[in-house]
Amino acid sequence: MTDCIFCRIAAGEIPANIVYQDEDVLAFRDLNPQAPVHVLIIPRRHIATLNDVAPEDVQLLGRLLLAAKMVAEQEGLAEAGYRTVINCNADGGQTVFHVHVHLLGGRSMNWPPG
Ligand code: AMP
Repeated sequence: MTDCIFCRIAAGEIPANIVYQDEDVLAFRDLNPQAPVHVLIIPRRHIATLNDVAPEDVQLLGRLLLAAKMVAEQEGLAEAGYRTVINCNADGGQTVFHVHVHLLGGRSMNWPPG
């Protein structure tokens, strides 16, 4: 989608600080980090929200989580721990409508989230 900012990052049209990529998945640092490490993991293919995920996307969703695990290791977060978040629509706080996993780490997280 040409008007989707994350599709444009995936296409290389907008710069991003990329920390991992493969043929299906891209991970880059969040522009407005909420923790010392804040990385977004996205599918290259446009899927707007978690509501739009279909059964045939199950493998792709698994790839997102596997990439999150790999980036967490790469960033030295694995042992201390980290948080993964997928916001969906207004009440979930989603602002970019291309499904993405937030990987947050480098500090202790609170629960429940705000
Ligand atoms: P969400 O609110 O869950 O939709 O998360 C969207 C995230 O994308 C926010 O944390 C933003 O800071 C981040 N973001 C928006 N534009 C960019 C960009 N161009 N590069 C990196 N992160 C971005």
